[in-house]
Amino acid sequence: MSGELMKYAIVIPDGCADEPQESLSGKTPLQAAATPAMDQIAADGVVGRANNVPESLPAGSAVANMSLLGYDPLEHFTGRAPLEAAAQGIELDEQDWAIRCNLVTIDEQVMRSFTADQISTDESRQLLEALSAQVDNPALQFVPGVSYRNLLIYRGAQSPAPFGADTRTTPPHDLTDKSVLNDHPRGPGSDLLNHLMSESVDLFADHPVNQQRRQQGKLPATNVWLWGQGRRPALKQFAELYDRQGAMITAVDLLRGLAALIGWQRIEVPGATGYTDTDYAAKGRAAVAALADTDVVCVHVEATDEASHEGDVEAKVKALEEIDRHIVAPLYDALSKQAEFRILVSPDHPTPLRTKTHSHGPVPFAIAGTGVEADGNQTYDDVTAAVSELAFGEGWKLMKYFLDLTGK
Ligand SMILES: [Zn+2]
Repeated sequence: MSGELMKYAIVIPDGCADEPQESLSGKTPLQAAATPAMDQIAADGVVGRANNVPESLPAGSAVANMSLLGYDPLEHFTGRAPLEAAAQGIELDEQDWAIRCNLVTIDEQVMRSFTADQISTDESRQLLEALSAQVDNPALQFVPGVSYRNLLIYRGAQSPAPFGADTRTTPPHDLTDKSVLNDHPRGPGSDLLNHLMSESVDLFADHPVNQQRRQQGKLPATNVWLWGQGRRPALKQFAELYDRQGAMITAVDLLRGLAALIGWQRIEVPGATGYTDTDYAAKGRAAVAALADTDVVCVHVEATDEASHEGDVEAKVKALEEIDRHIVAPLYDALSKQAEFRILVSPDHPTPLRTKTHSHGPVPFAIAGTGVEADGNQTYDDVTAAVSELAFGEGWKLMKYFLDLTGK
């Protein structure tokens, strides 16, 4: 199956790109963290920067990882929900739409919690079942997920979906502690979405699940918040585009979905949590093992992004050190024993500790391996990358460069 013997590895420390920190004596987290393996890759190869999120698209993992995997998001990004649907094995026909259906807590028109206080999967399921029964629309299918992360599928076979490219919705995590008044769905199909959201308010108010949550001192799930809508993106298989097979290791549905849509194998690693307590070493071992069966092995780690969302500089530095020691180092070591290999380290987008949320802007990358001539840089970090001559204004073009050292 494999087109050649060259082996490739990609490590994605999600959202690790950042600004200099006062608490780190003016260093960025990547500069401050002890990352000898990443620095070795920089010293052996090249450091550059890539812009994975075009200005017109939302800054976040969905768009940024689509770029990083070699697909132009301006051409292919349709929304976040269809990627998560793919992760769950939900087939979308051409006329279907997937919509994210968070359970949230809104109080006096302010978004108190975009997770409904980390509502349990079971509670979430009960609320969605009640809503689904009340709505009684055969085109609408509520799909419970994990905790607050659910999906609503609009099946368009009987009556065409009312949504369009101009339908606007807002991610609830962008509204934390802010007024939601001006951020309800707008544009085509927004009547339906707003109607569902307000229907849930009345239905959930005295639902037994919420009565119990209040008794336990937890925030109630006041309503569903609908966002991230889109149709199935038309992504060519990676093997067809790039002539290599791939495998993805991640704990995050977005990445699983992207992998599924581009025809990559997904490797589930027990202990991979998508949080700062993830089992880094297990991911590293799984990645090394996967090199035997595929051409491109990609390891995505969410912990750096989570630490950023919490504004926790120490946790971010520690997560980088764990990634370096338990994932990058063993992978680089294993690859170095191959006849031909290349390794790429790159986050998807910046998540500055200052703002605690995803941002636009370039991310630093390092590449080493067969055919890569050292550029004289000694360390992998944001500051080195910022002055590098190797820059990709369209981040999706980096994949071709990484695989073939062409296109630049
Ligand atoms: Zn991300």
